[in-house]
Amino acid sequence: MIVAVASGKGGTGKTTVSASLAAVWDRPLVAVDLDVEEPNLHLFLRPALGEPEEVGLEVPVADEDRCTGCRACTDLCQFKAIVLMGEHLLTFPEMCHGCGGCLAVCPEGALTPGRRVLGWMEQGAAGPAAFLMGRLRVGEAMSPPLMRVVKARLDAMLAESGADAVMDAPPGVSCPAVNAVMDADVILLVTEPTPFGFYDFRLAHQAFAPLGKPMGVVVNRAGIGDDSVQAYCAEHGLPLLAEIPYARDVAEAYARGKVVATLGPEHAARFAGLRDGLRRLHEEAVHA
Ligand code: SF4
Ligand code: SF4
Repeated sequence: MIVAVASGKGGTGKTTVSASLAAVWDRPLVAVDLDVEEPNLHLFLRPALGEPEEVGLEVPVADEDRCTGCRACTDLCQFKAIVLMGEHLLTFPEMCHGCGGCLAVCPEGALTPGRRVLGWMEQGAAGPAAFLMGRLRVGEAMSPPLMRVVKARLDAMLAESGADAVMDAPPGVSCPAVNAVMDADVILLVTEPTPFGFYDFRLAHQAFAPLGKPMGVVVNRAGIGDDSVQAYCAEHGLPLLAEIPYARDVAEAYARGKVVATLGPEHAARFAGLRDGLRRLHEEAVHA
């Protein structure tokens, strides 16, 4: 079972929930941070990591001496990453999606493969759990290609070990977030009971619902705001699997990089209940 922990906006406690779920998981687990623009699951789980593996994208390098200006490449590129300006062929590696089309169509061999560094993948162990994360290079705008590489590694790890996965997904509902949750078995939406939290939670539910995956909800900082999230869950048949109270010990744990589930039996039981609720959702979906 792959659980994607997602949220409509950042700062709702998504990573806190991911770390706590990993801490109470009672089967072999891979904890994976796919929030590659701002990975911070490792700050809570403190894994022992191996050497970072560089992840790159193949981009074209132009040889103007061989280019005849036929425009086959510029007509093909949908991203304007390669253009002819007068007699000069210009490439814009930061805009290239690495499809390889221009390299394939050039009749003169004027384009050769170069490489743009997207970021790094790191693998290790956090206690009994395996750990995997992606880290986008500062200044790099395109996270999905790096996420695809991390997900491919995750698939290989799961195929080999038969483990479950708890995935800290990027926040929001843009391409990286959808990209992260689309291969999950269960989506867990983390929100907070404030007007902003509710608005973004509703957007996330509407964005992910067409994927047809079972979804559960965690309300973080329960006790502040109002009950709009609970009312929405009741109206849409969304199971509310846990409420994390707005409490000093939870806030202190977060500030100190501690895992909330390890604060005491009450917290551990809350996250064990969440784990069991996610399994129930998965089993119901499998047997539906
Ligand atoms: S590899 Fe694809 S995206 Fe990149 S410049 Fe060539 S055609 Fe454009
Ligand atoms: S396809 Fe090759 S020859 Fe034609 S414009 Fe592009 S680089 Fe030049």
